[in-house]
Amino acid sequence: MKFGIHLSVFTENWADDLEQYILKSKEIGYDGVEIPLMDPFGLDIKRLIKILEDNQILCTCGTGLSDQTDISSEDLVVRRNGINHLKKCIDICQQLSCDVLGGVLYSPWGKLYSRKDSEVRIECAIECLQEVGLYAKEKGVILALESINRYETYMLNTIQDGLDFIKRVGSEYVKIHFDTYHGNIEEKSIPDAIRSAKGEIYHVHFSENDRGIPGSGSIQWTKIKDALIDINYDRWVVLECFVKPDCETGTGTNTWRKIEVNADKTAQEGLKFMKDLFGLDHQLTKEQCKELLKRISRMFDERQDELSMYDSVIGDGDHGITMAKGAKAAIDKINQTENFEASELFKLYGKTLISTLGGAIGPLYGSIFIELSLVMKNKINVGLVEFATGFDQALNKVIELGGAKPGDKTMVDSMVPTVYSLLQAVAEQKNIVQAFEEAKANAIIGAYNTIPMIAKRGRSRYLQEKAIGYQDAGATSFAYMIEQIYIYLLEVSQ
Ligand code: ADP
Ligand code: MG
Repeated sequence: MKFGIHLSVFTENWADDLEQYILKSKEIGYDGVEIPLMDPFGLDIKRLIKILEDNQILCTCGTGLSDQTDISSEDLVVRRNGINHLKKCIDICQQLSCDVLGGVLYSPWGKLYSRKDSEVRIECAIECLQEVGLYAKEKGVILALESINRYETYMLNTIQDGLDFIKRVGSEYVKIHFDTYHGNIEEKSIPDAIRSAKGEIYHVHFSENDRGIPGSGSIQWTKIKDALIDINYDRWVVLECFVKPDCETGTGTNTWRKIEVNADKTAQEGLKFMKDLFGLDHQLTKEQCKELLKRISRMFDERQDELSMYDSVIGDGDHGITMAKGAKAAIDKINQTENFEASELFKLYGKTLISTLGGAIGPLYGSIFIELSLVMKNKINVGLVEFATGFDQALNKVIELGGAKPGDKTMVDSMVPTVYSLLQAVAEQKNIVQAFEEAKANAIIGAYNTIPMIAKRGRSRYLQEKAIGYQDAGATSFAYMIEQIYIYLLEVSQ
């Protein structure tokens, strides 16, 4: 799931300069911005590409048709204009590396006829979209048609209208764009409507029943979220609120009164609400992943005497020193890198542990970070699912490499309860902070439970029964690492 914001939340005129709003969206924490292509031929695309690239932010695009670009017009020249408009928008999407063009792409806003008398117009729109669909396929851009309320169009009001319509178009590149504001007016049951369009919804707009901040009105958000999860919707959720009257964008959307305090507050609270709703409220950005790795290294440094002490009783007394040395080398490497994705950061951390630690512990500990990096690949932000899956794979890898079983008095004994706890939290859709709070507690109990165990792996196995009564160093350091992740997540969430 990626979260975007329609830039018209900020703009007062459709043609306002977008740069400051793109920067602001990035700062607030959005993954992307939705760019309204109102005048595709007048847009300075090179500049837009530069702004997006410089700020490392993605985008989606939306457009609409006017009387001059109406593809449902009975006038051939107007239809050709409309086709050219849509093709130009598709070109722009491709240039901006955006794979979806959403909006009312079939008829101009506010054009109202009787449906019964409009078969010719509907036919015209379908024919044009068949042609534009071929072009969209060539360029790898999906056209997502937005059903909107009855006061703004007669053609597509419900998701069912959209499904019937795209079936007639018959292009795999012409799909549906769902908007909660319109759905709230037109659908008997929004969740049922969403479920009926599995595999066809390619774009989603979130807006409250009064176009304000989601969660501030009467829309039943949890049911909508459940339906989107049921249909495996994993694409963009874009905040599209219109909260300001007395300006071009307000008037254009019939916003006659002040709906929210201001656009900034709308953008901030909107994102927080959407992330909370999907349980993704504490996903870590790559910058936060970097900070997390720093905290882990610092913990190994601060805890080195204690960890070596555990190892000195039943091992050779070097676990703390070894881990602190490796963790320092790893974070030094990370500090030398710039613009690395989360996945690459974890990979570099793991590889450096392997190369500096050596022995058995190097590959074992290193593989934990490498397995985490594998599940984080191509993810913009990482959250509970990535950590849970990553630690699960890491556990399998440690068992595969070291041959230890649960109960052998090794780090496996704190990894098993951690993984169990995290996977359980994913199944129960818990928030990541709560998930790690429980995982940390279970990891510490797991380490503690090694006290009465007889060692079967590592150096302490030579001690046989003599190791009974002492806590395993590796199990303890792993538990401390999970605790550190919890502490950082808690800090980020506040
Ligand atoms: P070394 O034993 O080479 O001196 P450390 O002292 O750094 O390495 O690490 C010791 C810890 O490594 C042990 O407390 C144990 O948790 C973990 N360990 C050792 N062997 C294995 C293994 N085969 N599988 C899992 N963990 C192991
Ligand atoms: Mg040792």
